[in-house]
Amino acid sequence: MIIQLCGLSGAGKTTIATNVKRKAIAYHTPIEIIDGDTYREFLCKDLGFSKEDRCENIRRLGFVASRLSDHGIVCIISAINPYDEIRHELAATYEHVKTVYIDCPVNELITRDTKGLYKRALLPDGHPDKVSNLTGINDPFEAPANPDLHLRTNEKSINACTSELFAFIRNTISSQLLPVHAQIRN
Ligand code: ADP
Repeated sequence: MIIQLCGLSGAGKTTIATNVKRKAIAYHTPIEIIDGDTYREFLCKDLGFSKEDRCENIRRLGFVASRLSDHGIVCIISAINPYDEIRHELAATYEHVKTVYIDCPVNELITRDTKGLYKRALLPDGHPDKVSNLTGINDPFEAPANPDLHLRTNEKSINACTSELFAFIRNTISSQLLPVHAQIRN
């Protein structure tokens, strides 16, 4: 199974994915987090932040996820993944792809600003530290119309969001009779 997360920077993708992975260990469920930031340092080093490059980035992460997923590993792609087009492409290309929207309003993200990116994106034009392609501020984000799961991280705690995603994975695995490696054992 491939879980493609999508959501703005700071919405909680890494936090929730990491917690789900930790929780899954107790159930002997192999989970691999395919983190956009990490892969941009290696496999996707040549890519920038244009629409074309952002889509190609997800295409590559999806390919890696599909290879692992074929062996029963639950793959969580943790990246902003802002465009409908590529999210649909992934879902149409590979089996058992689920879209999970990690949703948080921009105002809350500006307050969280864990990486200092919002502060930099809101600097005046021409400022040397200004970030000019931050999704949600000065780059587009197409909210998915019908995600398989929608988590509002400004309304629910980290634990509640983690439990919801974990339960979603568990239910999907058992309802779709996915390979034995992906079975969550009690
Ligand atoms: P992303 O990977 O989407 O860029 P991060 O997981 O790195 O986001 O950061 C999310 C931040 O929001 C963390 O500091 C986390 O503690 C905080 N946070 C607050 N509430 C939640 C929640 N319900 N779910 C996930 N993260 C939350």
